[in-house]
Amino acid sequence: MIQITMPLNFLGTVYREIRQALVDMGEMFDLLEQPTDVADKPDAKPLAVDGGVVRLDDLRFGYEAERPILKGVSLEVDAGQSVAIVGPSGSGKSTIGRLLFRFYDVQGGALTIDGQDVRDVTQKSLHDAIGVVPQDTVLFNDTIRYNIAYGRDGASEEEIVAAAKDAQIHDFITSLPQGYDTAVGERGLKLSGGEKQRVGIARTLLKNPPILLLDEATSALDTETEQEIQGALKRAAEGRTVITIAHRLSTVADADRIVVLENGEIAEEGTHADLLARQGRYWSLWQRQASDREEAA
Ligand code: ADP
Ligand code: MG
Repeated sequence: MIQITMPLNFLGTVYREIRQALVDMGEMFDLLEQPTDVADKPDAKPLAVDGGVVRLDDLRFGYEAERPILKGVSLEVDAGQSVAIVGPSGSGKSTIGRLLFRFYDVQGGALTIDGQDVRDVTQKSLHDAIGVVPQDTVLFNDTIRYNIAYGRDGASEEEIVAAAKDAQIHDFITSLPQGYDTAVGERGLKLSGGEKQRVGIARTLLKNPPILLLDEATSALDTETEQEIQGALKRAAEGRTVITIAHRLSTVADADRIVVLENGEIAEEGTHADLLARQGRYWSLWQRQASDREEAA
């Protein structure tokens, strides 16, 4: 019996690890490391960021020619402003993020940062300028310090700690017996969803990007945990241009401006109060989610 069960157990473990690795890779590729078909122009220059004004000008894009996803989206996000993009699943919200990173080239219109078309700058400088907090932060099987320091090569201990403090995860880390040396991930300490996201926020803060893209950064968390990390996200947003993509509206109510994307077009735009007063699409989404919140409470 022993001879048979041992190898089976072993295989089970290996299988689980491989599967987990594939899941993690999938998440990484989802937004951060999409295989890209686009290349730098021969005369591409580094992006010169001056405030971080993001402008979408009549943006048109589809993954397949016969199926347009964005049908002329125009949007200007001023330096230091926070704009939320909301809308049904599949409406093209994350696609806007992918275009901002230039994982794909637009098929019409233009996307600029501080007046420079993303097609004219080096991809390296573009990626350096934008920090992402994705839906699920991928942790490496390494120490917490390594997982934060990954945000920027050569970061000092002081900088790592400062980022962890701003992400409101420092106190948690120092409460662990091994502190910043604690191993995390599959083979180490399992962090809760909220803790993982705060490590991800610390990683992004260390990168110190002028532009921040939050793509469903809290949507994998329960409402309570979500509220806990809202503080960290607010802190992260200070002094940066922030684009928040969200399905859950409670997380975007205090954005400077909210854009409702529907069928590849902007259906509505305004502040939370404006949009509620209009009693249109945003209002009905809000009503629906409010009754879901009550049911869950
Ligand atoms: P959202 O973030 O609003 O949920 P996405 O921007 O991710 O939506 O996707 C918009 C549409 O594009 C969806 O219908 C999705 O299935 C499709 N899509 C996303 N990525 C690809 C891809 N790589 N190839 C083909 N279609 C895609
Ligand atoms: Mg999405």
